[in-house]
Amino acid sequence: MNRRYLLKTFSLAGALAILPRLRAGEPFIRMEFPVLRLGNMAVTILRDSSGQTDASCLIGATEPMLKRSLPSGKFDSVIQAFLVSTPQKKILIDTGLGLKLHDNLQKCGLRAGALDAVLITHMHGDHIGGLLRNGKAAFPRAQLFLPQEEHAYWSAKAGSTGESARAIASAYGKRICLFKAEALGNLKAKEAPGESANLPAGVRAIAAHGHTPGHTMYLLESKGERLLIWGDLMHAMEIQLPYPEVAISYDVDPVEAVKTRKRVLASVAGSGIPVAGMHNASLNFGRIISTREKSYAIKSHPGA
Ligand SMILES: [Zn+2]
Repeated sequence: MNRRYLLKTFSLAGALAILPRLRAGEPFIRMEFPVLRLGNMAVTILRDSSGQTDASCLIGATEPMLKRSLPSGKFDSVIQAFLVSTPQKKILIDTGLGLKLHDNLQKCGLRAGALDAVLITHMHGDHIGGLLRNGKAAFPRAQLFLPQEEHAYWSAKAGSTGESARAIASAYGKRICLFKAEALGNLKAKEAPGESANLPAGVRAIAAHGHTPGHTMYLLESKGERLLIWGDLMHAMEIQLPYPEVAISYDVDPVEAVKTRKRVLASVAGSGIPVAGMHNASLNFGRIISTREKSYAIKSHPGA
């Protein structure tokens, strides 16, 4: 975790809005949860795990690329979820593996029953792991928003992810809201097409297929301020920003994942829209810029 960045972006007002039960003697808790304020929203990162991943899982990374961008042969990797607090709702975007999610929510002063909605980017285990507890729905009141292509693909699949998808469907039953995400267009466009109408106010779902067949990003907006939570658009920013053509073995369709990554990067570069992701280890919230070499880099977002 980038401590300097946290110090720079930490907002006391934002943290207090998110952590209503925080007591004065617990400053370490505030540092544990980076917060970005977005108009009337506060977006908090809930980190589930962190470690290092070997570069051998990358697809299409040549020796010169690795030498330049990942000389250690490894990259830092995290798994995280996002808590979005609006004046009306408490929303979770993804649930990580579920290792620390419920402890993290508790530290933020929230019981599982306080969550109104859970939005899922895609149904890999490191994103849906916190949805069930002891085989039951971990969030007793929340609507569960699933991209319809994603749900259809995994529900019909054999293996552990298919089993998880079916167990989740039966545990959440009528609280599941399947939706069709907007096509990936120009993210700079201000007007929101109506297709995301059933999602919570201020949230748009945008298709970013490739990593999985229904992989979806969420664009949050409040009072004209935006944040793109891009899910698994990137796993190793150190190499996939300068070389967006590098894929990863977890991509269901690496070719489509590369196309999507290039389109999203071209769309957000220079737009000022901050971005965040479930596996962005090197910084919490950033802005994409184009570089002279016709690739991309990321800068800390000054927000919060
Ligand atoms: Zn993932």
